[in-house]
Amino acid sequence: YVGTCIDITDRRKSLASLEKQHRRSQLFNIVASKIRKCLKLKEILATAATEIKELLEVDRVLIIRLLNESATIVEETECINCSSLKGKEIFDILAINDYLPEYRDGKTKIIDDFNLQGKTVDLGIKSALIAPIFTKEKLWGLLVIHQCYEIKEWEKFDIELSKELADRIGIAISLAQLLENLEDMVERRTFKLSQANQQLQEQIKERTLAEKKLRIITDNIPAFIAYVDDRERYLFNNKIYADWFDRPLSQITGQRIRDVLPEENYKKIKPSLDRALAGEKVTIDTQMIRDNGDCSWFNANFIPDLDRDRRVKGFFALIVDITERKAIEEMKNNFLSIVSHELRTPLTSIHGSLKLLATGKLGRLSPEGLQMLSIADVNTDRLVRLVEDILNLKQMESGKVRMEKRSCNSSELIHQAIDLIGPIATENKIILIGNSSNISFWADSDYILQVLTNLIDNGIKFSPPGGTIWIIATLHPNGSQILFSVRDKGKGIPQNQLDIIFKSFHQVDASDSREKGGTGLGLAICQTIVQLHDGRIWVESVLGRGSTFYFTLPLCKP
Ligand code: ADP
Repeated sequence: YVGTCIDITDRRKSLASLEKQHRRSQLFNIVASKIRKCLKLKEILATAATEIKELLEVDRVLIIRLLNESATIVEETECINCSSLKGKEIFDILAINDYLPEYRDGKTKIIDDFNLQGKTVDLGIKSALIAPIFTKEKLWGLLVIHQCYEIKEWEKFDIELSKELADRIGIAISLAQLLENLEDMVERRTFKLSQANQQLQEQIKERTLAEKKLRIITDNIPAFIAYVDDRERYLFNNKIYADWFDRPLSQITGQRIRDVLPEENYKKIKPSLDRALAGEKVTIDTQMIRDNGDCSWFNANFIPDLDRDRRVKGFFALIVDITERKAIEEMKNNFLSIVSHELRTPLTSIHGSLKLLATGKLGRLSPEGLQMLSIADVNTDRLVRLVEDILNLKQMESGKVRMEKRSCNSSELIHQAIDLIGPIATENKIILIGNSSNISFWADSDYILQVLTNLIDNGIKFSPPGGTIWIIATLHPNGSQILFSVRDKGKGIPQNQLDIIFKSFHQVDASDSREKGGTGLGLAICQTIVQLHDGRIWVESVLGRGSTFYFTLPLCKP
């Protein structure tokens, strides 16, 4: 027979090596998957170190964290006969600085026998395979796989594997950091949200409490309080509404005003509602009739509620029952009318007699007697004016006066007023300046002349000598009215008196009537005349700087 003998040592060796590589590849996959499954940094490092030690069958595995010129061992596997290195700073000892550029380039390093390299401290590392760990392309740290007592011949496979494993660790760390950041963010957000929620709860609590208190307060105030939105819908009413309308509040709040008030009443206040919803603060006295026929007087204040862009969202309504006050006022007015009537005839006769005495036809008087006579004459004059003013006002208020309205010319009327009052102005050293284009308006010219002269007369009374009064008429921006203004640079009127001076007998200073000879009725008469013309009168003033009285009248009807 022929026998053949072939040396298969090499084949066997490479087969064994291939098998080993295959087994290690399988193990690598298992280790990589274990590392991947870890979510926390600590867990990743511990698993990686333990598994790599087993996979590569080495004495010990260390993981080093590199940070700002320092290298700290953050993870190590157990090692019999070696002291623990965890937490140790080894930047200089492991000659990291010398190899840093290579690590940064992603190169692995084999270092055998540290003592030979002149490093004094024995770390228990004889032969080490060091691979850099990267996170987000930055050097994070080092994976150190080493033998403690003998020099190991690191195979190419070991080197590649260590590199791969270091990369896996890097990816796992990046993911863990991301997760930690996310968790951190979620935690911070949750904290903020729960804080906001808590604040909200507290605000709701405070609001509910405030609402309860507000309800208690408003329900016990003897006035009607409401909030109305821009569609004239009640959003809030206090309890007095329910009592007055004899309905539950649920049938008032949420309803439109026109559906709650009797039609007649609604029609009466509608212009005022429109003005409030146009942003104007409105105050009116109005009479309301209940379903059962009862009649009451109310003083209503509508205060617009503006948003940040100064758009009207709605208005607050504060309404007070003034039925009793009105009754007293009426009694007072009746009394005044009666007294004035009764006074008029004797006063006229006293006035006449005094004038006759002053002529001297009934005998000469001594100088003292003449002086007394003059005082009596001035004061009777005032009394006559007062009585005339009262009767005039009462007549107009009672609607007994007929206004003869026709087309008037603003420029002509202003000239007439200046001509009439001119001598008094000259006497007081006041200059009157009139200015108007020819605007036609619809009014009783006699009464409007009375308003103008009254306002100019007041301007003269309350201006120092040498002052100027401007009387101007222009078209109102609304296009349907004429706007008159009488401006002086006199003593001015305090802000809190601007409305009140239009009421009968109201004077800023009680001495005004004595010193200036006024009756406190002039502006009340002006207001009544303007209102009888469907106009409006008001004043703007700065104390010490002067006042401007304005009034509007309708333009001529086409
Ligand atoms: P009187 O007859 O007292 O002038 P009015 O009704 O005309 O009565 O005016 C009421 C009050 O308003 C005056 O007493 C005065 O205090 C104030 N007043 C009116 N017009 C002016 C003005 N132009 N400047 C300052 N105060 C004024």
